Amino acid sequence: MPPDLTLQTHTIVRPDKDRFLSEENPFEAMMFRFDRAAELLDLEPGIYKVLRHAEKQIITNIPVMLDNGEVEVFTGIRVLYNTSRGPAKGGIRFDLNVTLDEVTALAAWMTWKCAVVNIPFGGSKGGVICDPLKMSAGELERLTRRYTASIISTLGPDSDVPAPDVNTNERVMAWIMDTYSMRVGHTVTAVVTGKPVEMGGSLGRREATGRGCMIVTKEALSHLGMDVRGATVAVQGFGNVGSIGAQLLQKEGCKIIAISDRTGGVVNKSGIDVDDAVAYVKQHRTLEGYSKGTRITNEELLTLEVDVLLPAALENVITTKNVANIRAKIICEGANGPTTAAADAILDEKGVFVVPDILANAGGVTVSYFEWVQDRGGYFWTEKVVNDRLHEIMINSFRAVLQLSKQHKVNMRTAAYMLAISRVATVHRLRGIYA
Ligand code: NAD
Repeated sequence: MPPDLTLQTHTIVRPDKDRFLSEENPFEAMMFRFDRAAELLDLEPGIYKVLRHAEKQIITNIPVMLDNGEVEVFTGIRVLYNTSRGPAKGGIRFDLNVTLDEVTALAAWMTWKCAVVNIPFGGSKGGVICDPLKMSAGELERLTRRYTASIISTLGPDSDVPAPDVNTNERVMAWIMDTYSMRVGHTVTAVVTGKPVEMGGSLGRREATGRGCMIVTKEALSHLGMDVRGATVAVQGFGNVGSIGAQLLQKEGCKIIAISDRTGGVVNKSGIDVDDAVAYVKQHRTLEGYSKGTRITNEELLTLEVDVLLPAALENVITTKNVANIRAKIICEGANGPTTAAADAILDEKGVFVVPDILANAGGVTVSYFEWVQDRGGYFWTEKVVNDRLHEIMINSFRAVLQLSKQHKVNMRTAAYMLAISRVATVHRLRGIYA
């Protein structure tokens, strides 16, 4: 009889369980949920150990010539969390709050996210500690190119494929693609996704994350027997995900009653004209001074009485400090990690239906996958084909997670982690340990 390698999970001891003392450490937020799902799946200790570690973490110090002739050194990070299911996929953010723990958590979330929607990618993430809003276009270009050169050994369509994230965009992706192509001596469009359409980007990619949020929000409303038309929505973060999510939900008949960004927000119970707010931000960069509603803080927006709350800014906005005041019926997590693990239990008690980040915002990576496929095939799809295929994947994924949550009597987040971890673990079992 072959040896039974399966041990009960209660024998698994997290070696560093006391390391994370803060509720707001994003790696802790990821690992807490991972542990719960691993326990329910009765994951073997060996695979548990593999999946709780990142495969590779790169920290690089990047000298950049500023416009004033001085040299500044920025710290950049790239983490490949798991590549068992395919090339690593994950965005790059430029932000002052980037840390190794944050990037590692985001890379792990990318791994689980790609597995939830069942696309053949692993997970990675990158970041550079900087304040891009204070940098000129020339400084940002030099920073981007030097960061790309520093991590070039991991990059490539078959190994690690970046995309935009907080404070990076199509422009930045174009610089990365050009830098990589110059280094390898020929044009490689599939090395990044979220590129301009003119140079191998996909139609529908810019809107994809917000579109995915809209699709799963509609599914959640319908699951709870609530009407889409007239459903009230508050959106925190008015960048790519938040503004497009708000526009598309409005088109479906929802009433967007509050929006915000880093400068604060507005509430208007009769509904905000989202296209008008988008036009305002295009002209003024932020919502500061937008006057078609009553000014509110981000904290006030989160606790409004609404059918749907769409946090689409940063991590750790729903925590033990404010969760008791949350009055939304549905939370659709457009951002990565907006809810801390400690807040989950209280949301469950309050009966809030949470569509977790690794499902809710997976529309972006799904169309990134479509972009990578189109680049490699050299044949580009119509926007309708992109949107139809995205719709099918988001609906199927939502339903698979919902079904699992009913089967195991767990919330949607735990069900999504269970689905993802079981898919990644299966591949590890099939591949075995290379040695
Ligand atoms: P973005 O830079 O386009 O927009 C971020 C928005 O958040 C801006 O409106 C900014 O003003 C606002 N913001 C920043 N700090 C804030 C604060 N403290 N309080 C309130 N608002 C604040 O970024 P994005 O691409 O829309 O990403 C937003 C979130 O969605 C991130 O968590 C990101 O990881 C996640 N996400 C993005 C994508 C994508 O395709 N862009 C895909 C999946 C997940």
